[in-house]
Order: sequence, then structure tokens, then C-alpha cells
Amino acid sequence: MKRLIILIIALVISATFMLQRTFRSVRRHEASFHAMGGMPVNVVAYGVRRGQFKMGMREVALYVNELEDIFNEYRTDSEISQLNRLGKGCMEDVSPALIALLKDAKLWSRVTGGAFDVTVGPLIDLWKRAAKDKRIPTEEEIAEAKSRVGMQHVTINDDSVCLDRDKMKFALGGIAKGAILDEATLVLRRSRIARGLVDAGGDVASFGKGTFNVGIQSPGKQGKLYGSIMLPAGGVVTSGDYERFVTIDGKNYSHIIDPRSGRPEDELVSVTVMGPDATNADALATAISVLGKKRGVALMERLPNFRAVIMSHDGSVWMSDDLRALVKY
Ligand code: ADP
Ligand code: MG
Repeated sequence: MKRLIILIIALVISATFMLQRTFRSVRRHEASFHAMGGMPVNVVAYGVRRGQFKMGMREVALYVNELEDIFNEYRTDSEISQLNRLGKGCMEDVSPALIALLKDAKLWSRVTGGAFDVTVGPLIDLWKRAAKDKRIPTEEEIAEAKSRVGMQHVTINDDSVCLDRDKMKFALGGIAKGAILDEATLVLRRSRIARGLVDAGGDVASFGKGTFNVGIQSPGKQGKLYGSIMLPAGGVVTSGDYERFVTIDGKNYSHIIDPRSGRPEDELVSVTVMGPDATNADALATAISVLGKKRGVALMERLPNFRAVIMSHDGSVWMSDDLRALVKY
């Protein structure tokens, strides 16, 4: 009898101890690694054990690096760099990830009437070169660069991409980060993490049940919050980076260029887009930066799955109707 009681007490103690351990390790985890030119990528996961989280992290870091070998135009050996060196002709055996991204990009160029166009590379290079020489590009230079820009010159097949112009150049900066964030969430889900988020420099893809608190920063005021919103899982991406611009004659030029005029577009300070995924939110945020407020708002009205916050230089803030009701100040 005495032995039985001792055994039961021992069992209860060890069971409580085990439960405690489980509760302590099944909670919020957070860690980061560096990617995309040294940017910290932050990963948060809920409701998993530490070991499982660590494994998921490892998988994500590996996969993000793989995707950069495809999308990162600053890596000379990346797939997109190979395509940039191709000239007129076709590249075979293109990775499914790049085919999918270019298809998305082509769709957005159609939806925006060419305002969003990932073949804008020649114009970006032209303005960068001009800034280095402290001058504004000539009409001739702009026309020449424009002749090498346009998604209509790109044919995307099942596993090949064809260019019908020489010296075209892709710049994937307006959509690739969103795509990498979405892919990262898929890897985490495959690692059996049910809820969490991936954050790269303030652009976020979240996944899982429930809502996520999204903070919106005041334009130009680092760290100061304009307001916050509880949103279901998806992508939140901001375009309009106050740091990445070129200066010519003391005037700042945006790194976002309107492919139709061939000139930098800087009517807006920042555009934040929220939607079901980060890839399309990213493309849409860049597209609105090109379109400006009036045409950007008109585009938003055709896209009920997305919400936006558009901040102009004069301090005015436009917000999707349903967002205005949700924001807490
Ligand atoms: P961020 O503001 O975080 O730098 P964005 O999502 O606004 O990023 O994208 C800016 C990038 O988009 C540029 O660095 C360039 O690579 C690319 N880009 C510039 N103009 C266009 C355009 N008209 N269409 C598509 N991509 C563009
Ligand atoms: Mg973008």
C-alpha cells in the first residue's frame, strides 16, 4: 500500500514536470538570419517546440539563399543575371520559381497598363549613371533606354523565357522580396509550423489562424507609429524607401521609375499594401508608387482583396475604406 502511494506520488510529480516542460517550450519563438544584401530576415513561430522551430529556421535560411541564386540581380551568377546577359533569344530550362515570378510580373504589367514593369532595368541603370555624373539624362538617352524596356518583348513559356530585344535588363526589386517572403512561409508550414510570420526589413508575410497586429509607421519618422490594425494572415509590404534614392543637383530622385515616361516617380512618400499574399502586395505597392495617388486609388478600387495606405509628400494619407474603420491610433 505504502509503495503504491509513493509510486502514484512519483508519477504525478513527473507528469506535472513533463507538462510544465511542454508548456514552456511550446510558445513563441523568434530568430533571424541575414539575406538580400545583409538585410536581417526575422522569423516568428507560435505553438511549436524549440527543436522544431530551429529545424524550420534552418530550412528557411537555406531556401531563401537558393531563391537569391535565382532572383538576385546583384549576384553575377544568379539565374536572373544570366537572363540579363542573354541578349535577343531564348533561355531554356528556366527554374519554375523564376517562371512563376515572371508570370506574376507580366500579369501586373498588364493590370497597371505598363506602370509596373520588371524590365525597367535599362532606365534604372541610366538614372544611376547620370546621378554619378551629376546630370539629368538627355531625351535621346531616355528614348534609347526605353526601347529596351517592356514586358511585351518577353515571352514566358513552361520552362523557357524568350526576349525579342537586345540588351534588355530585368530588375526584380519591386516583386522578388514579396515572393521570397511567401516561399519562406511555405517552407515553415512544411516544417509543421502552423502559425507565424517572416519579416524582411518591415515587409511581412504571416500565416496561420487568427489575426496579426500590423503597425503602420509615420512617414519619415523612424519608429513613430501612425496606427495599428489587426489583420488576418497575408502580406504587408511597403514601397517607398527614403534611403534608396539618387541625388542630382541637390534634388532627390526615387529608385522607382515610370517606364512610360522613363523618369523617376516621386509623388508619394510611401505606399503600404496588405493582401492575401506578399508577392502581389509587393508588386501592387511598387505599381501604386509609379501610378501616383489618383490612378493608384482607382486601381485599388478594382482590387477588393487588397487594402492600401498611401502617404503623399503634402502629409495627406489615403486609406482603403474598411481600413479606416480598423485602424487604432
Ligand atoms: P523598396 O521601396 O523596398 O526598395 P519597392 O518594392 O518599392 O522596394 O521596389 C523598388 C524596386 O522596384 C526598384 O529598386 C527596382 O528594382 C524596381 N522598380 C523600379 N521601377 C519599377 C517599375 N516601374 N516597375 C517594376 N519594378 C520597378
Ligand atoms: Mg514592391
